[in-house]
Amino acid sequence: MSYSYDDQNVFARILRGEIPCKKVLETEHSLAFEDIQPKTPHHVLVIPKGPYITYDHFAQEASDAEIADFTRAIGQVCDQLGIGPGRGGDGYRLIANAGPHGVQEVPHLHVHILAGRPIGRMIARD
Ligand code: AMP
Repeated sequence: MSYSYDDQNVFARILRGEIPCKKVLETEHSLAFEDIQPKTPHHVLVIPKGPYITYDHFAQEASDAEIADFTRAIGQVCDQLGIGPGRGGDGYRLIANAGPHGVQEVPHLHVHILAGRPIGRMIARD
């Protein structure tokens, strides 16, 4: 089965400049912006500019340059926010939801960077 990207999704529209975002960082292959409904004091989404739906899609089909750029963009945002424990910050959580079981709402890969308060345990039990 191959991946089928929907270019009308909201992040594709942000990338095309059709709707605004609060930009945090832009690199050659990635964009970071504030989540419109922040769950924590810092809630930034980092997306690749390419048409990738999920992390596994990106890992399989993106170029090495895109993957390196995306990984470094996440690190750069953590640095900008001052949240990296190695740099005196209090830490953060990265989340990349995928598909129905991951409860992914927007079908364009995004990594959530959540920080600014204690976030609790990783997964709540049902
Ligand atoms: P997910 O469930 O991982 O797909 O999360 C999608 C995230 O995108 C949610 O946290 C939304 O609040 C966020 N979101 C949806 N539309 C926008 C938008 N126009 N600008 C910024 N964040 C958005």
